Amino acid sequence: MHHAMATSRVTGTDPDGAEHTVQVAGTGTRRQLECGSCDWRIGAQFLPWLKAEEHLAQAHAAEVPVQGTAPGS
Ligand SMILES: [Zn+2]
Repeated sequence: MHHAMATSRVTGTDPDGAEHTVQVAGTGTRRQLECGSCDWRIGAQFLPWLKAEEHLAQAHAAEVPVQGTAPGS
């Protein structure tokens, strides 16, 4: 087993069906958010995934599927 970085991502889909992904890197209170679709990047102490969703919604009109559902299945 190798060391896994505490990295995850939030992906949303815009009305055209295009996906936009915000990477969430870091641990604890030092997380870095970085959008793959534009130059947006910030540091976030709390609720980085919420900020990522906010950015996806505001900048890309992209909706993040609700956790726990499995679209298409
Ligand atoms: Zn963006």
